[in-house]
Amino acid sequence: MFNTEILKYSHFAINKAAEYILNGEIIGLPTETVYGLAGRIDNIDSINKIFHIKGRPQDNPLIVHVSDIDMANKLIKKPMNGILEKLANKFWPGPLTIIMDKSNLINDVISCNLSTVAIRIPDSRSMINIIKKINIPLAAPSANISGKPSCTSAFHVFDDMNTKIPLILDDGNCEFGIESTIINLSEDNRICILRPGGITLEDLYSVTKNVYLSDFVLNKRLISKCISPGVKYKHYSPSGDVYLINGSNYSFTEFLMKNIDTSYKNCAIIFKNDFLNIENIDIFYNGDLNDYKFQSKNIFSILREIDKKSYDKIYIRAPKKIGIGLAVYNRIIRAADFKVVDLD
Ligand code: AMP
Ligand code: MG
Repeated sequence: MFNTEILKYSHFAINKAAEYILNGEIIGLPTETVYGLAGRIDNIDSINKIFHIKGRPQDNPLIVHVSDIDMANKLIKKPMNGILEKLANKFWPGPLTIIMDKSNLINDVISCNLSTVAIRIPDSRSMINIIKKINIPLAAPSANISGKPSCTSAFHVFDDMNTKIPLILDDGNCEFGIESTIINLSEDNRICILRPGGITLEDLYSVTKNVYLSDFVLNKRLISKCISPGVKYKHYSPSGDVYLINGSNYSFTEFLMKNIDTSYKNCAIIFKNDFLNIENIDIFYNGDLNDYKFQSKNIFSILREIDKKSYDKIYIRAPKKIGIGLAVYNRIIRAADFKVVDLD
């Protein structure tokens, strides 16, 4: 049990965080994607603690964070080259995670007995300064309790991790607000997106046309076959039933008018200019229909607020699957456990 402290980003806070991590503790810290729970990769106790305090399933491997490509190269079987190196040079530091064959510096607890490891250089002064200070890569999953919406502020981390960790570094709200894009090189040498995120399909496409979205991203039926074990678990979810509704403002309203059950506590997430004139439903707005960046930055804090207010039914008007909107759509379809209603 810890008396969990929140410290604003500073030189002093980085030193304190580095000291905790060197001593095998886990700390909460911001990245440009979401807040993470970081521990040193060379200490099995630290890694086990991460799984334990998150309640993370033992077969869901962790992403390893490094400060430069040289550090990444030590963690993989052969140094990065070809298209993966090109993508890393273009998008690192940033929200792109690359799966590669691991070296023996990655223990089986981190990679859950896979032969591969997921690596990225985050665009986060907190994370980078700690890694540089201790010269050890950090394993860091998202800082939420497993299955719950991710944390995009230090206060979210405090809500989930109070007393479980000694320190949370606070550097404001996360820039992207959803997790990194995860890619690997498929057997036919194409770039496969296993999880959409801050680096979009369109961003990758600007570097190589050999890129495609894994079928697992939007399709529940195939998920058990995905090589990324995390995708098979329910994720990002408040405790009520979430429904993702594909349709216009008009058809969404009509659908709710016909289907709402007022014996439940209901709410809806809609867009700024949507109009929903129905009694017995609370409304949350997630920016403009075309402002995907705003939506990604805010979706998890809305879902966490909804979780706190204990709604039974949560109806979400689907975002467009364009740019980072695709990643927002993916998080909502997962939060809904694939309960999707197609209107129009
Ligand atoms: P999170 O830590 O919550 O951002 O989740 C990390 C994601 O990365 C999970 O979906 C994992 O399944 C995925 N992941 C981590 N390592 C690997 C790997 N070696 N191969 C495939 N997916 C991985
Ligand atoms: Mg997560």
